[in-house]
Amino acid sequence: MFLGSISRPIASIRGVGSKAEAMLQKAGITTVAGLLRRYPRDWEDRNQYVPLARFSLNSRACTTVTVIDQQWIGFGRMRTLKLIVRDETAKAALLCFKQNFLEKKFVPGSRWFISGKFYHKNGEIQSSAFDYEALGGDGGGSKSFGKILPVYPLSGDLTQKMLRKLVENALEQFVNGETVEDEIPGSIAAREGFLSKRDAIRAIHFPLSMEELEKARRSLIYTEFFYLEIMIGKRALERKGAAADVRPSSAAGGTLSALQQRLIERLSFELTRGQREAITEINADMSGPYPMARLLQGDVGSGKTLVAFLACLKTIEEGGQAVLMAPTELLARQHAENAARLLEPLGVRPAFLTGNVSSQGRRELLKRLAGGEVDLAVGTHALFSAGVEYRALNLVVVDEQHRFGVTQRSRIMAKGRMPDLLMMSATPIPRSLAFTVFGDLEVSSIRDMPPGRKPVKTHLASQSSEKRVYDFVRRELAAGRQAYFVYPLIGDDENTGDSGLKNAVSMAERLAAEIFPEFSTALLHSRVDEEEKRRIMESFRRGETRILVATSVVEVGVDVPNASCMVIEHAERFGLSALHQLRGRVGRGSEQAYCFLMYSEQAKHGNEGQLNFRGSLTEEGKQRLRVMLENSDGFVIAEEDLKLRGPGQIAGIEQSGYLKLGLADPVRDIRELIKAREDAFAILQQDPGLLLPDHRVISRLMEEAPPFEEVNL
Ligand code: ADP
Ligand code: MG
Repeated sequence: MFLGSISRPIASIRGVGSKAEAMLQKAGITTVAGLLRRYPRDWEDRNQYVPLARFSLNSRACTTVTVIDQQWIGFGRMRTLKLIVRDETAKAALLCFKQNFLEKKFVPGSRWFISGKFYHKNGEIQSSAFDYEALGGDGGGSKSFGKILPVYPLSGDLTQKMLRKLVENALEQFVNGETVEDEIPGSIAAREGFLSKRDAIRAIHFPLSMEELEKARRSLIYTEFFYLEIMIGKRALERKGAAADVRPSSAAGGTLSALQQRLIERLSFELTRGQREAITEINADMSGPYPMARLLQGDVGSGKTLVAFLACLKTIEEGGQAVLMAPTELLARQHAENAARLLEPLGVRPAFLTGNVSSQGRRELLKRLAGGEVDLAVGTHALFSAGVEYRALNLVVVDEQHRFGVTQRSRIMAKGRMPDLLMMSATPIPRSLAFTVFGDLEVSSIRDMPPGRKPVKTHLASQSSEKRVYDFVRRELAAGRQAYFVYPLIGDDENTGDSGLKNAVSMAERLAAEIFPEFSTALLHSRVDEEEKRRIMESFRRGETRILVATSVVEVGVDVPNASCMVIEHAERFGLSALHQLRGRVGRGSEQAYCFLMYSEQAKHGNEGQLNFRGSLTEEGKQRLRVMLENSDGFVIAEEDLKLRGPGQIAGIEQSGYLKLGLADPVRDIRELIKAREDAFAILQQDPGLLLPDHRVISRLMEEAPPFEEVNL
């Protein structure tokens, strides 16, 4: 029997009465297996004798003591028992807050095992949080000392003592003497020296040594990853299997198609190496028998759009339609304009579709889409709304894919018949996520930039030195450049409780009237209507507007090479990927560009630039600014982001099984993850049906005790 199949109710564990049952159920534990998979969050090594004189700050002492005196501190209801004890090395005071009943137990002369957190105070060694157990007459036979104890995550009224006891009982009744089956193919377990499942589950709760604990963790972590990757791999196989009879594979593999050649010849620049490699990989995928599922990642400004257009050309050339979907209307419009400029001369018929196209024009457009008179549809999520039909949608390109949910992606996919999928992102996906959440995607990475780009110079400044920043920007403007000013809020009405926060509306007025009266200023945020937005962007792009005051709507995709300054006020309020994207709006031309991250602080201000923050900055806020200052590589920033925020905040995670892992942490345990992935994929490749004797355990486990039931990859 697999561990996961021990579905007996918790009530069948010795010691679980109706009260304990209710408490466990409240904590989400209903079965024996559920309890055994409630892994400790830490372990307390009571094997290690740490005498009183040698406890170190924040660590514990674990020793045997003799009670030498009982004293009392405080008065009335605050009266508290203070026990004076000693071991071979020192004396200490145990403060028994709310435990005055210990007076009866800890009589002078009695001896105890003690484990607790100690500190120095008033010339004494003290503890007010300690565990104890009577030292048996013969000095041995302790229940909780001389071993390594699990420390469980608690909730509700659950206590460590209770969980320890119940887990111990559960192990005794259902695991120790029983046949708990191993879950990993024997050849892998032998290669890695894993513990048997039975030993591993016992040792993760009650390890006999720290070495055994480490072995148990390794075995269980690998197992979690292995099954996650098996699921991902099977998913990819199914997709390919379903596709094999739908798609003929076309001949020309990685080589450029005729239309692609023609576009490249018309460009005034050469493709970068990253772009060339990406299009080669994409072409190979698109010629293959299975639909492409590829993620194209590359830093802001690395030229992903062009790669997307090249991909579209191949589809169009073969008689299909392509869509290019962007998260904002602004960005969609920019793409549409580029498509018109670059692709129309090649005979491509592009169209632009957003929610705002008037009903008359819309009906006309839908007819052309359904009739196959449009080759490339560029737009927002309106591209997959009801009523939009395509004659032969063969390629879906999703720009800034992290802005779209999984459901949106599948809705656009459903408009075609197994279309190729190309997702693009300037927020690179950390490897740990690429292997889990996006586990069945192929990845192309553009790691170089078009030549001539200089890295953006990033500076930190406190809000109180805004004048120096504004003066700097004025010089840039005077030299003919343009600038962005970005704020976390649109207007005053949003200013709920955050007094003192600058907002876009009032700063637009102040910048125009007081600070830069000699330059033209415009204001852009999500409440500006689309037509107005378009006019503003157009004017900024032509250089008629010199200063664009905005919220994070300019975050994605907008491309104005003459802009050289990005000023982000209250920068600590923005997430890392937003900051990185915003900074990427400048430095797109050949001039040196600058990014100012301005942070708020309280009256007393630190040495600006020295990373000496004061006041309202949270630790995480500081960390983010530090990361921005020290890194320009989006790949590194994405990893840092994941470390700071944890995976829970990242789109698509919930559906992925990532959070259903128990012990394993894809970021921390990336090496195990890679190993498990390689093993799982190799097995699926060699034996897709999982029929070989050594692999049968995999299909049986997936059937009898699926590890990720509700996962939707
Ligand atoms: P992103 O990857 O951020 O979407 P874009 O596709 O918007 O980047 O490209 C940024 C700018 O770089 C555009 O103005 C584009 O025309 C230009 N560009 C793209 N590829 C090259 C290249 N190989 N050489 C020079 N400029 C390029
Ligand atoms: Mg882009």
